[in-house]
Amino acid sequence: MKENTFLVHYDELSLKGGNRSYFEKTLIENIKKQAKNKGISLNADNLWGRILISSQAKSSDISIVLKKVTGIAWYANCKIVVADSEKIKKAIDKIALKKSFSTFAIRVKVANKDFFLKRKDLEIELGSYVVEKYQKKVDLEKPNLIFFIEVYSLKKVFIYSKKRNGLGGLPLKTAGKGLALISGGIDSPVASFLMFSRGLSLDFVHFHSYPKTGQESIEKTKKLVELLSTFQPNTNLHLVPILPIQEQIYLNCNHKYLVILYRRVMLKIGQIIAEKNNLNCLVTGDALSQVASQTIENLTVQNNSVSLPIFRPIISFNKEQVIKIAKEIKTYPVSIQPHSDCCSLFVPKHPVTKTKIKDIIREETKLDFDKLIKKAMEKTETISFPVKTK
Ligand code: ATP
Ligand code: MG
Repeated sequence: MKENTFLVHYDELSLKGGNRSYFEKTLIENIKKQAKNKGISLNADNLWGRILISSQAKSSDISIVLKKVTGIAWYANCKIVVADSEKIKKAIDKIALKKSFSTFAIRVKVANKDFFLKRKDLEIELGSYVVEKYQKKVDLEKPNLIFFIEVYSLKKVFIYSKKRNGLGGLPLKTAGKGLALISGGIDSPVASFLMFSRGLSLDFVHFHSYPKTGQESIEKTKKLVELLSTFQPNTNLHLVPILPIQEQIYLNCNHKYLVILYRRVMLKIGQIIAEKNNLNCLVTGDALSQVASQTIENLTVQNNSVSLPIFRPIISFNKEQVIKIAKEIKTYPVSIQPHSDCCSLFVPKHPVTKTKIKDIIREETKLDFDKLIKKAMEKTETISFPVKTK
């Protein structure tokens, strides 16, 4: 069976210094895990500055794996030959015969300056070869087809014509682990994805008001986490029943603070789940001033409920920017399905936009939050993705 080889490049600028080998090792592990998850076996070798993938799998299947791994700047399906210009020409033939083009360019990179094959000489020799054999024109500005030739060593010259964009960013896990609060809306899945691409692994927590609301918000969130788990094989979703706490807040506290009180209790429970699972930060899909709970004052009062840092990667995004990413990561069609959210229950007509911490603390002394939180924790369920079928 034919072996397919891919060259994977990552963003080297962010990988300076001693961390570099850790990043490379983690990226390779992540590629292997993602492949295993898709039932593909492949080899991944670290070749100083790039990773070489080889596998018997179809190239389209390998591409599906690489598209889902954060930290990859670009990748290319490549041919490998020894450092001999006749062999390189044969590899060029294989690409040229499959493509229709009228203009082309040859781009040669030689890893070692002392190598006997010189960049300029090789570009001229290979360019003349393609001009004569295929009657095509050189266009260095805007060619229809580029032949990339990377001379890595005596035994390895990589030849490819199409670079495909990866997700970019950093390899998952290299930034540590966090807990994302996911609501079933458009924003929180996008915020989670953006943190994945900064190298942060995530568990998810969803707060639901079942049976006051239907099962839809839970089902929706499961679908969203399943979609997000395509970027992170092995993902946990914690489902927390928040209805009893909401009811107590509604009965005992000033209604103008309801949403802030719900959010603070969500963050507090989030922090407990995070501490239990060695997760070191919280992530939310807040965007500044999007709704009353997301003003500077109200976000400050929410921050004040926990000691863990809260990351809000879409804080400066407008809705169109968020929707664009939601469509790219395919969560958008799920997010826009209707559901009654736990926070739309018991919402005040006139929420405060500038909550003062002393007012919230006063409201919170009206209830035994520790006891309510303990009960909610006891009823929390955890689901792992991919769901194991017996
Ligand atoms: P959208 O704004 O697209 O409706 P959203 O997810 O941003 O969806 P918001 O009401 O703006 O919803 O909530 C702000 C943030 O609070 C969310 O991004 C999410 O991180 C968190 N959050 C809200 N409701 C829940 C919930 N039921 N479970 C978990 N997290 C929630
Ligand atoms: Mg929002």
